[in-house]
Amino acid sequence: MAKEKIPGVSRELLEKCVRCGSCRTVCPVFNVTREEPSVARGKIFLANMINQGVVELDREAAHFFNLCTTCLRCAEICPVMVDYEKIIIPARSLAVEKFGLSPEKKAAVKLFSHRKLLETATKLSAPFTKLLPKSSQSSQNRLLPFKIPKLGKVLIPEPKAKPFNDRDKWFKADKEKGKVVFFTGCMFNNFYTQTAENVVKVLNALGYSVFVPKEQGCCGAPALFSGDLKTFERLKEENFKVFKELKEDFDFAVTACATCGHVLKSFYKSFPYSVKELIEVLFENIDKIKGWKYPQPIKVTWHHPCHIVRGQKIPRNYPIDVLKALQNVKFISMEEADNCCGMGGSFKLSYPEISRKIQLKKAKNIEATAADAVSTECPGCVMNIAEGLERVSSKVKALHIADLLVECEK
Ligand code: SF4
Ligand code: SF4
Repeated sequence: MAKEKIPGVSRELLEKCVRCGSCRTVCPVFNVTREEPSVARGKIFLANMINQGVVELDREAAHFFNLCTTCLRCAEICPVMVDYEKIIIPARSLAVEKFGLSPEKKAAVKLFSHRKLLETATKLSAPFTKLLPKSSQSSQNRLLPFKIPKLGKVLIPEPKAKPFNDRDKWFKADKEKGKVVFFTGCMFNNFYTQTAENVVKVLNALGYSVFVPKEQGCCGAPALFSGDLKTFERLKEENFKVFKELKEDFDFAVTACATCGHVLKSFYKSFPYSVKELIEVLFENIDKIKGWKYPQPIKVTWHHPCHIVRGQKIPRNYPIDVLKALQNVKFISMEEADNCCGMGGSFKLSYPEISRKIQLKKAKNIEATAADAVSTECPGCVMNIAEGLERVSSKVKALHIADLLVECEK
């Protein structure tokens, strides 16, 4: 058997794992499957066997590397701090080199990695999607009129005929205290344009003028986490060029998508601007937010996106303190608020039934809070949680934090 190596993954990195099994106690996928190769320990062992030439990276091994939401709960609990992303992404990239992307990942990567193609697809599909009923949990998502066997109700994001980044544009604050550039990512640009507008309004209310560059594209997360590193590098280069050539000096780049923030901070080395997640900006301006009032009393719980609390290691108190600062908002804590929602990018497409089980656990935890709304800071989490809430017939709304804040009297 020809010896193959997972690129950039040393024996030292793999043998850091002391096989303690702590990751088994927190892994949302292992919690469903109860199979060792589902969890970090099993995947690291498999990677080590491949690198030592004991086993081959065959299709079954590729399946096990893909069977993971990349939520990083394993990395967080690991007593020896195994750098799990540095193993799983190269392992997936070797699998892609050998077998190519699976059909569903191939379609997702192709669509999201070509800005014009995605904009054309959303423009063409927008009039038809508008015929579908709106989700009662989240107004920018639409409900399919039929149930899918073994899954139930299915939500899809509403594609927009006009992208948010339709031109280079400025949104000026009345009393400007800073200038920021908005890295929108593809979900806000093509689907959640209303939330993108709300992000801008919130930043303006805090005194930041906001610039949106038209030519920016997807951060590359669908390609990166699928192991298609060539496509990821191309998207990274394209975004680098756009942001490097901006004429203005900005205080920082801001994103309101957990995954964009994680990718920009961890995988875009020397990006031209420092990057802040919206929740960091909100926390820094908490004194101002204390004067904001939601129109009526509301109970709100919070879902911590994996790529905010673990990907970016943003402290868990930031969103909670922000919610507590708002007048008329009562914060309610939730069991396992930092557990994955089950989306995991294309994980949901590849393993819909496992994803659904993780999602329903989240929806039930939200229901148990008896809150009126669950808020978070990731468009993917909002959609997946709203779908879970539909599936358990909940009345709780799923709101991006910008959609909640924009309603406040300031
Ligand atoms: S990243 Fe999440 S899903 Fe993947 S192995 Fe670690 S804990 Fe499990
Ligand atoms: S928690 Fe870390 S050291 Fe323990 S088995 Fe999992 S990856 Fe290995």
